[in-house]
Amino acid sequence: MQKLEALKELLATPKKIVILPHRKPDADALGSCLAVWNVLTQLGHQATVISPTDYPKFLFWMQGHEEVVVFSEKTKPKVESLVNDADIIFCLDFSGLNRIEKLEGIIRNALGKAKFILIDHHRGKEEFADFELWDITASSASELVHDFISLLGYGNLINEAIGECLYAGIMTDTGSFKYPSTTGKTHRIIADLIDKGINAARIHRLIYDTNSLDRLRFLGFVLNEKLVVHPEYHTAYFSLSTSELAKFNSQTGDTEGIVNYALSLENVVLAALFIEKKEGGTKMSFRSAGDFSVASLANDHFNGGGHINAAGGGVDDSLAETIEKFEQLLPTYKDSLKAEFHKKTSK
Ligand code: 5GP
Ligand code: MN
Repeated sequence: MQKLEALKELLATPKKIVILPHRKPDADALGSCLAVWNVLTQLGHQATVISPTDYPKFLFWMQGHEEVVVFSEKTKPKVESLVNDADIIFCLDFSGLNRIEKLEGIIRNALGKAKFILIDHHRGKEEFADFELWDITASSASELVHDFISLLGYGNLINEAIGECLYAGIMTDTGSFKYPSTTGKTHRIIADLIDKGINAARIHRLIYDTNSLDRLRFLGFVLNEKLVVHPEYHTAYFSLSTSELAKFNSQTGDTEGIVNYALSLENVVLAALFIEKKEGGTKMSFRSAGDFSVASLANDHFNGGGHINAAGGGVDDSLAETIEKFEQLLPTYKDSLKAEFHKKTSK
């Protein structure tokens, strides 16, 4: 951590603090924010989590969720005043201010006024923060938040509620501890959280076993009707239009995890999910196996980024145009996809 002593000094007296996750926060982003929020609140700071957008219902159990201010036209005046008054702004689980959607302008105005603290594990960092804990090899932002709390000497403040937020973030970002980013240290942190009394089984249930009937039927439809496989490129993808999403009453979070089914095919090393946005344009998720970097793919062609094996992007093009572009790109990656496939099946 840069300038740790200066940061300790900054946090030594009560401050006004804003904590931000990326748009459509997942368990890692929201868990990181609420863990930091809980610690800062215990320390007597006036802290508020501001989410750029809504987030899935299966995260509503996190302690502090009711206090989160979700940005909208209605909350805009409150958000502006919180940001204008902030002494410190935390940016958690994102490395570029283009990841906070409509909050970007408001937050950019605070640069140079508030002190910015960035804690993240995504590639392609924008240089705007005063303090950084940034490590692209870390399993999750939640793991880094755990480091951050310990580095500042507040480890004793990690209670069950904080532990459960961090556990949720680490569990989901490691694919339940199966991705290569899962280290001995990751497991030691988890062991520490379990020793602190968290109920790990409950968190798995709350996140993975709380499907609505609509969502489960939607998943059935997607797997049955929407999977496109290109064996010659070891690639599979799904695409979803707004009318298909509406037909199954799809809610925020309902499409999370779907892309992983495409990657689970034995011959596939590159998977994608294309989603038509209500407001126009297309949002996409990419997943890969081995050394094929979907962060580069997303960054080079789809206005996005992320990690080697999990990335995303967003474009203004229509769903059909985006899929066509993706399909046209595949031949240029044929050799590296084939090489990854041989690696995947050779061990
Ligand atoms: P997901 O596919 O689960 O939405 O995202 C996978 C990873 O890529 C996450 O770490 C997420 O933060 C990142 N990501 C998703 N969409 C974008 C995007 O539009 N831009 C960037 N830079 N990263 C993204
Ligand atoms: Mn993350």
